[in-house]
Amino acid sequence: MDLALAPPEMQRPGLSGLTPGMLVAWLAERGEPAYRARQIGDAVWSGKVASIDDAVPLPNELRRQLTESFRFDTVARTEVTLADGGLTEKALHHLDDGALVESVLMHYPARPSASERHTLCISSQAGCAVGCPFCATGELGFTRDLQTAEIVDQVRSASRRLIAEGRRLTNIVFMGMGEPLLNLDRVLPAIEALNDPHRFGLGARHITVSTSGVVPGIRRLTALGPQFTLAISLHAARDALRDVLVPLNRRWPVADVVAAAREHAAATGRRISYEVVMIGGINDTEADAEAMVALLRGDHAHVNLIPMNAVAHTPWRASPPRVIERFAAMLESAGIQTTIRGNRGQEVGAACGQLAAEHAGLPPAPAVARRRARLVAESAAALLGERSHEPAPAGVGE
Ligand code: SF4
Repeated sequence: MDLALAPPEMQRPGLSGLTPGMLVAWLAERGEPAYRARQIGDAVWSGKVASIDDAVPLPNELRRQLTESFRFDTVARTEVTLADGGLTEKALHHLDDGALVESVLMHYPARPSASERHTLCISSQAGCAVGCPFCATGELGFTRDLQTAEIVDQVRSASRRLIAEGRRLTNIVFMGMGEPLLNLDRVLPAIEALNDPHRFGLGARHITVSTSGVVPGIRRLTALGPQFTLAISLHAARDALRDVLVPLNRRWPVADVVAAAREHAAATGRRISYEVVMIGGINDTEADAEAMVALLRGDHAHVNLIPMNAVAHTPWRASPPRVIERFAAMLESAGIQTTIRGNRGQEVGAACGQLAAEHAGLPPAPAVARRRARLVAESAAALLGERSHEPAPAGVGE
């Protein structure tokens, strides 16, 4: 977004998007000492205060300038809905220009073999340009990139709720709305803020970035160094079918994506996580499992199979449980670690983008019918091995 054209509220950056060095420089311009940056940072990151007024013993004039220059929180309002008996909290965040984004907080109680976890799934864009047909966000289209502070403030929102209950966030995954590696100039600073011990302070191994396969972005993430976990939205191992299910496959074919992921695993020592949404009769056949085995055999990888959430504009449904189990068994017998995942929060529409889509209202019935007919035709051609003749979606990079 060009800030000069943004609504007045948006022209004040969010405090959480500033590095400590930027804050020190801003203070120095006003003749203020560097230690004030630590005071302000403590207020931003403590999770215990709702505004700068609640926290810091600052001189009145500095407080006034700080408030005029920056927003303490870039999320104007958050609606939280509970599901799964309280184990899932779906948050719809209203941003200052009216854009809506979602985050999902998932609680995993302690087990004999593992301590309790609280994992937050966050959004990196409002809408998404990639347009995966099984995804509610893809149906919404692309609105805009999120600013760094708008990404980080989803985390601060969930963290405040947890801290009030005496709990703390343990994991963050970039798997919400948007393709994070198409907004890398804002996502990388957000990751650094979340990882920085003087800011949010979450270990790199507890931060996962999920991509549908932006190869240059994977390489930039690898070059960053620390051991962030990489997840690839794979969905199909055959190019013809993946062209339909993940349209940016027309720009970066699946073999190139997996090669970049292998380089990430070799550089960081971290296992790659591959996500596969299981769609009945589309990507769940023996031929698909065999192609996945051929693609991933011997890799430092783990495959998650996830039954598809029903979304209005597709003719598809989730694969039956026995089909998913057979698919998993074929991968496992080839030595590929595989887990069948439940789908958290279905009762509140926790498929990425569903809450925002409901807010936007149902698309007109003729548009849904046209879309369904196109998907039927495209997937039928793909199952015969025909590559798509359509161009890659606009805005997914050259
Ligand atoms: S699945 Fe991810 S990449 Fe695909 S349209 Fe949805 S948000 Fe975008």
